[in-house]
Amino acid sequence: MKKLHIFNYWDRPQAGLLKEILAKEGIKCSLRNDQLSSAVGEIPFVECCPELWVIDDEAFPRAQMFLKAWFANDNRLESSWDCPTCGERSEGHFGACWSCGALRE
Ligand SMILES: [Zn+2]
Repeated sequence: MKKLHIFNYWDRPQAGLLKEILAKEGIKCSLRNDQLSSAVGEIPFVECCPELWVIDDEAFPRAQMFLKAWFANDNRLESSWDCPTCGERSEGHFGACWSCGALRE
């Protein structure tokens, strides 16, 4: 078992989401410290941060690739994009063109 990533305390939903995404790819992960939110204040803050562990060592390099791609994808969503249909520019958080409704590629 190898530690893939330590998430920030406030990234807890993201950690759960990534675990599901990796599970769909056949990579089993274990999420640690994901149930301690009620204990904040009683234990050191750093121990509250969710940790994603890859159970199968052989799947670890693949999991790292997915993590990297996933974060890169996440950043891409922040940048604006040009509609392939009408050419209007939409903000990164829109999944479809604000002008003509064409889906983002
Ligand atoms: Zn458009």
